[in-house]
Amino acid sequence: MRIAFLGLGIMGRPMASRLVAAGHEVSVWNRTARQHIDGAVTAVSPAEAAKEADVAWVCVADTAAVERVIFADDGALQSLREGAIVVDSSTISPTATLKFSQRANQRGVHWVDAPVTGSKLGAENGQLIFMVGGANEPVEYLDPLFKAMGKQVIHIGGTGKGQSVKLCMNLMLALIYEGFAEAYTLAQKMGVDPHKLIELIQASMVRSGAIDYKAPFVLRRDYSPNFPLRLMHKDIHLMLDTAKEHRVKLPALETVDEIYELSSEEGWDDLDYAATLGLLEKWAGISNKAK
Ligand code: NAP
Repeated sequence: MRIAFLGLGIMGRPMASRLVAAGHEVSVWNRTARQHIDGAVTAVSPAEAAKEADVAWVCVADTAAVERVIFADDGALQSLREGAIVVDSSTISPTATLKFSQRANQRGVHWVDAPVTGSKLGAENGQLIFMVGGANEPVEYLDPLFKAMGKQVIHIGGTGKGQSVKLCMNLMLALIYEGFAEAYTLAQKMGVDPHKLIELIQASMVRSGAIDYKAPFVLRRDYSPNFPLRLMHKDIHLMLDTAKEHRVKLPALETVDEIYELSSEEGWDDLDYAATLGLLEKWAGISNKAK
């Protein structure tokens, strides 16, 4: 298939590489210039990348970025043929997704929202899970591409439903990590060896895949970004805005949002969201050095 891949960040770069490795014809574009991807053509604009493409696959930071790469004067929609598909693996607003989809449909272009879970390692190893919203036909057509980048595809429902569940997933992720970080801080204050705490957590019914992933980084105090704090913070705002639209109250998430606000003020936006632990440790007077 001919694919335009738009956005070569932490997630987009390995995803595009896997499409190349699977034998597809890939043209790539990124807002700021980066080294090209071996086997892919580098385009100067989203429109150029999308020329003659069957699929324009997007993985950029936020809702405004998706609007820019698809609908700007040099956006992908300018050159996509009728019947082509836009697939959005960014995490963005479900409401905006519906509007974007309608705008694309008016030009005869399908829209599939396909946000991902699995983080940087999952993208590199082709082990992502796609949660998908869209019509059956384009979703089925995309199957070989999903398989090239991921281990599972869950077709949740119509347009926007992929983004809807992605927000719910990350809501849980933010709260699970916060629960872990609070327990970890209190345990340290009581003189518990963090390695023993993690051994117990992971042997018990509070075990979590998120903690499986994060614990080795936390023990090393390695907060290099897998999922940057600024992006989880963006998602928390999306969740709170979406909850407001639907008249749902999320009291625990409101509190966690404050932790992210303060972490952002500490200048930790480009660290992994695991760095939010540092704030609790700071308040508790615990040294932030590797254990
Ligand atoms: P990232 O490393 O920060 O990359 C963001 C990408 O978006 C970059 O290519 C960036 O271009 C581009 N971008 C930002 N603003 C733009 C704009 N206004 N116009 C055009 N391009 C713009 O982020 P990432 O980790 O790859 O995440 C990408 C998306 O996947 C996000 O929505 C994120 O929430 C979601 N996601 C991430 C993870 C994860 O673990 N990292 C997991 C699941 C989902 P530049 O290079 O020019 O800045």
